[in-house]
Amino acid sequence: MTANRLPHVSGNTGRPEIMVILGSSLTVIAILCIVTFLLIREHTNAQQAATRSATTIAQLIDADVLRTVELYDLTLQGLIAAAQRDDLKQVSAQIRHLVLFDRSTTARYKGDILLLDKHGEVLADSSLIEPKPANFADRDYFLAHAFNHDTGMFISRPFKPRCECEEKDEWRISFSRRIASPTGEFLGVAVASMRMSYFDQLFNSLDIGTGSALAIINDDGILLAQKPYLKENLIGKSFASNPNVVRILQARNGNFNSVSSVDFQRRLYTFSRVGNLPLTVIVALSLDEVFATWKRTAWVISGATGVLCIGLLWLTWLLCRELRLRHQAEQDLAQLAATDALTGVANRRTLDHALSHEWFRAQRSGKPLSLLMIDADHFKAFNDQHGHQAGDEALRELADVIRTHVHRPTDLVARYGGEEFSVILAETDSEGARQIAEQIREAVQNMPVAGAPQSPMTVSIGIATCTSASEISLEQLLFSADKALYQAKEGGRNRVVCAS
Ligand code: GH3
Ligand code: MG
Ligand code: MG
Repeated sequence: MTANRLPHVSGNTGRPEIMVILGSSLTVIAILCIVTFLLIREHTNAQQAATRSATTIAQLIDADVLRTVELYDLTLQGLIAAAQRDDLKQVSAQIRHLVLFDRSTTARYKGDILLLDKHGEVLADSSLIEPKPANFADRDYFLAHAFNHDTGMFISRPFKPRCECEEKDEWRISFSRRIASPTGEFLGVAVASMRMSYFDQLFNSLDIGTGSALAIINDDGILLAQKPYLKENLIGKSFASNPNVVRILQARNGNFNSVSSVDFQRRLYTFSRVGNLPLTVIVALSLDEVFATWKRTAWVISGATGVLCIGLLWLTWLLCRELRLRHQAEQDLAQLAATDALTGVANRRTLDHALSHEWFRAQRSGKPLSLLMIDADHFKAFNDQHGHQAGDEALRELADVIRTHVHRPTDLVARYGGEEFSVILAETDSEGARQIAEQIREAVQNMPVAGAPQSPMTVSIGIATCTSASEISLEQLLFSADKALYQAKEGGRNRVVCAS
């Protein structure tokens, strides 16, 4: 407290505001963290659900292809077993045809089933009792069996038939097995072709959505089947250098997210190898479709969260503004309650409070405390002569003069009542107090009074000082200062008297 300053309502003016800002900021951060966590979890769930359904689709295709290939293999094995029977050479061509191809009727989407000799010439044809002469020594399957003993069942690259028949533009693949003598000598090849429309029928029976794709590739990265037909001429084309295909062929089973090099769409690739066959089924689900529901939910939740957070921050701002205004109003009110309206110095209430506080402080510290009682001399006469307004102005000037002579932050100037002022001088002995009192008295004497320049003002000052040794009460201190003031009045006014 300085001579001019008055007590504050509270020292932590910004604390409630900081608490409100901190609280709402933490709430906003918590909301954002929770929403982000939930959205990430939902994203992961959407990806897992898509992976599960893609795996199921891949397994369905796997099972169907495996069963179909097994049927073709059974057909080939039956054909080879029948072809190696010597007694078949004696029967008629019709009977031989019946025996050779009796199992072939079970194979679905079957094309021609042929028996080739070691030069690639057709020995028997499932569609003709008397086969048309033709040579297939240049086909990939024939070369594979001719130069390898243990090829097992060979699945060819996709090809189109050489005939001038209706199906000449229809893609096919063939399944073939080597025919060997008991000593392992190459005797020829049994080959069955399958129309690729089998894959179309299989893929069409599965609903995978619009942006997604199904494909089957062989171990050389050659595309055997696809849905939808992004580019028709891709069937039979090698994708061995395509990074996605390289990854799929290396891992054999699994899934990953990547961009398609064909149409540049982001897809979830789930792939699985068909049994022990050199075939891999690829289910590529469009990530736009996989996350479409999640995206819609994310937009709605993000929007709602954004509005909520902005609303919360706006309410926080309003609350802070209200707190600031309230605090300011409280301060103004406290200032008013503590101040004398006429002179602007502390009022009697503040004086009582400060005096009690300083008296206890002096008792604890053992340091002296002085109190000045200042009373304007013959002020009634001044009022009578110059009027009350001039008297009020003179009181304001008197308060200003007293204020300018009191400097320490712990000192306090107050209006005691009427034309009487008090000054608390903490940690000041009677000699120090006398010096200040003398300075005030002299300054008042020389003070030009605006409303009455011809009547110089004077004051009488009574001083009382308490020390730890004096052991006087607060009431006694006040009484002593008052008594000293009376002595100054009695002594002729315009003087300073120290209580003994
Ligand atoms: P003394 O030298 O003995 O102190 O004489 P005095 O006339 O100053 O003392 P007294 O107590 O008889 O009169 C005080 C006067 O102060 C009475 C009143 O007119 C005047 N006074 C008190 N308060 C105010 C005020 O707020 N404004 C004005 N203008 N005058 C006031
Ligand atoms: Mg008086
Ligand atoms: Mg007076």
